Amino acid sequence: MSEKLTQQDRNEILSILTELIKIPSVNTGKDADIPEARIADFITEYLQNIGIKCQTIVTDTGRPNIIGRWPDDTNEKPTLTLNAHIDTVNIDGMVIEPFSADVKDGRIYGRGACDTKASLAIFLWLMKHIPDYKDIIYKRIEFLATCDEENFCGGSRYLVENGYKADEMIIGEPTNCRVGVAHRGLMNINLIAKGTCAHASVPNQGENAIYKITEAITLISKKWIPQLEADKHNLLGRATSAVTIIKGGHRINIIPDRCEATMDTRILPNQSPDELIDYLQKVVGDLCEVQCVAQYPALETDANLPFVRRLLQASKQFTGSDKPVGLPYLTDASQFARTGAKCVVFGPGGIEQAHSANEYLEIDQLYQSAEILLNFILGLRQ
Ligand SMILES: [Zn+2]
Repeated sequence: MSEKLTQQDRNEILSILTELIKIPSVNTGKDADIPEARIADFITEYLQNIGIKCQTIVTDTGRPNIIGRWPDDTNEKPTLTLNAHIDTVNIDGMVIEPFSADVKDGRIYGRGACDTKASLAIFLWLMKHIPDYKDIIYKRIEFLATCDEENFCGGSRYLVENGYKADEMIIGEPTNCRVGVAHRGLMNINLIAKGTCAHASVPNQGENAIYKITEAITLISKKWIPQLEADKHNLLGRATSAVTIIKGGHRINIIPDRCEATMDTRILPNQSPDELIDYLQKVVGDLCEVQCVAQYPALETDANLPFVRRLLQASKQFTGSDKPVGLPYLTDASQFARTGAKCVVFGPGGIEQAHSANEYLEIDQLYQSAEILLNFILGLRQ
């Protein structure tokens, strides 16, 4: 037996998504802006109207995360948290109207349509309708909207650093209704070489920091990167690392006393950031200093956990597969999993449409995703 969406359910979900797209929440990455403010008001009002109490947790940069719980008078387990972020990437270069939510040929267009206002719309709809059912397999359902995700998971990081805990979590991101159980982690690494200035007509009297960095990069690409990339994960493939910025020098006739480079490094779940940094410093010796300036853990959730198996079963009807997938991108799950929460990533739409110049969502996937989650929460077999 399974529960099917009615035409009215479909209309309701699409209309929530339409309203969400029409509220811009573009994350510029600048602290002065709080792009999530208006969409947070919309969500708070929606939840209050359906009788769910809300709590707003404001980050140190003034941005709102919103939590709503049903019912709000129990701490019994198991609980399920439905999480999606409320910010979007910017609209530069978009070739469609970003905030008009136009519908054409079975698609809805707009910034955030796919990443990830579609998941938000489904979660809000579920919060309204789940209380209508007598038997659900969770003691409590929690809705969690996070801010600042597109700026390296700022909202979820704040929550986790301030004691937020969850049990089983679905992170709404575009997976084409497949169940994502793993993604790589990210390390942002700086290399800093110091030297001594001298007039460029007498280079031997100085110490050239650019030469030191280039020598270090050669060693890194010969020794460190091949070792980093040696392991292969069955869902994620290999770790990768690339030098992405290099800066140094003052003038054409001065030997540079400082040169810096950055590296974007994507790691597998079993790789230890601390060990990688130690080995990197060993490889470059005293040519430069190695600093890991930011770390985002990889995700790997056991696909045999009962709740993951149930979601895989529920998604099979539409996707034809009950195999979990690995994801190429980073999500808020990376933060929540650090606290012991069990996280899977799931949602309508594909990552190739997210952040794109004509971002859209196939509306059928919106309904499929909602139906999968409804049946999953009710514990029904398809
Ligand atoms: Zn996203």
